[in-house]
Formats: sequence, structure tokens, C-alpha cells
Amino acid sequence: MQDWLAVNEPEVRFGAFLSVLIAMMLWEVAFPRRRRSLTRRGRWVTNLSMAAINTGLSRFVIPIVAVGMAEVASTQGWGLLNAWAIPAWISVPVAVLALDCVIYGQHVLFHTFSPLWRFHMMHHSDLDFDTTTGVRFHPIEILISLSVKMTAVLAIGASPVAVILFEVLLNGTSLFNHGNVQMPGGADRVLRLFVVTPDMHRVHHSIHKDETNSNFGFNFPWWDWLFGTYRAQPASGHTAMSIGLEQFREPSRLGVRRLLLMPFIDQTGGYAIAQPKTGSQ
Ligand SMILES: [Zn+2]
Repeated sequence: MQDWLAVNEPEVRFGAFLSVLIAMMLWEVAFPRRRRSLTRRGRWVTNLSMAAINTGLSRFVIPIVAVGMAEVASTQGWGLLNAWAIPAWISVPVAVLALDCVIYGQHVLFHTFSPLWRFHMMHHSDLDFDTTTGVRFHPIEILISLSVKMTAVLAIGASPVAVILFEVLLNGTSLFNHGNVQMPGGADRVLRLFVVTPDMHRVHHSIHKDETNSNFGFNFPWWDWLFGTYRAQPASGHTAMSIGLEQFREPSRLGVRRLLLMPFIDQTGGYAIAQPKTGSQ
């Protein structure tokens, strides 16, 4: 099973990504949470182009991805979990949990320092919030994230299987928690004890800075509770709240080319926590 996963990793990841994406799109059509402010077409072309660029980048430009790094760590015995003979049923969940905590910390840092925020703000500039928002990341953010993950994999000593599972989980939950989907009453309350739900993550895409700087988790909600960044609901309610950033309200300025240039030419809008102008968190 472990060997099969490692050999078929690209197919497993792409298959899981496509299945969750299609399932979420169907759910959004059947039970939408909010009325869209824009048509799907323009945003989907933009967001899915980003996914294509980023997949190409991490797959072909970077020869050693996180899984490759995990293989090296396993053979060399590098990293905490490789220091002892820990059975996979313990080491895999521990590695997944530790990687998720690292990604939470990385997300907080992207909101804290304005040079990093510049690359992350295109993700937040989406004027609607749907499953395709979950793949809308600047390629440089993906590269930074990849190097953070590779370092974490080495330090933790995560196995290739743990890394593949984590990547599949992260891609899947990102598509899920950006969904413009309605859930049966009460389901959200129970589900968000274990996983970040769309209603929980939508708060993070609010135009209000204090809400943007909350709910940083992608997979598990526990880090936000633990580190005091959890916010249960948006102040204006899910259907009335405004999505996006104050400085980007014009859809014609949010095409693929413009988004790629955004970190270099646009204002940060005072969203980065460490900026002197924003006194609040
Ligand atoms: Zn964010």
C-alpha cells in the first residue's frame, strides 16, 4: 500500500483533487450558501489558471518536492520521527498533525509581515468565495510554502506516505472549506469540532481586517482555538458579509496577469498585522 501510494502519487493527488472539485461544484449548484456577486466564468478561468500554473511549477520546475524529501529523510534516518522505530499507525498521524500545525503557522506569518502578505493577498482578493478560491494562490506563495514544507518534513522526519496523505488532505480540505455551500442545520457545529468548515473559513475572507486575521486553519480547527485566533461567525452574517479586500473591488483588475503582478505593484491595504497602521489583530 505504502509503495503503491509513493509510486502513484501524482495520479492519486490529481484524482483526489478532481473528484473533490467536481463534488464541491455540484454541491454549490444544488445548495448555495450565498448569492454570487460575479458570474462563475471569469473567476473560474482565473482561479483554475492559477491551479494549472502552480501544479506545473511544483511538479516540473522543482525536481525535489516534499515527497522526495520525505524519501531522503527516511533512507538517511533524518528528523525526529526517524530517530526511533515508531510504528506507522502512530508516526503517520503525528506527522500529519505536525505538518498541519506548521501550515497554520505559515499562514499566520503570511498575514503578519507585509512582504509575505503581498503574495498572499491575491488569494484574499477574490470577490466571491467558492471552491475555486481554494486553488487561487500566487506561484511565489506556493514556492515559499513548498520550501517551508520541505524543511518541516526534514525536521519532523515525516514518511513519504504521511506527506502524500497530508497533501491530499490539504488540497481536499482547501476545496471543501472554500465552498459556497449550505449545510444542514447543526452539521456545521458538529463538523467544525474536527475539520475547518466553509462557514468557519469564510470568516477569514471577510473584508474586515479583524476577521481576515482570524481562522487561519485549513485542515483542523484546533490551532485557532489553541492560539486564540478563532472567530465563530462573521459580524455581518454569512449572507450579508462582504468578501475580499477593500483595495480590490474592481473585477476588471483581477485577471490572471494582474494577479501575478499584484505583489509587486499594489498597495497592501493595511491588512498585514505587523504594519504600524493596524493597531488591532
Ligand atoms: Zn489568509
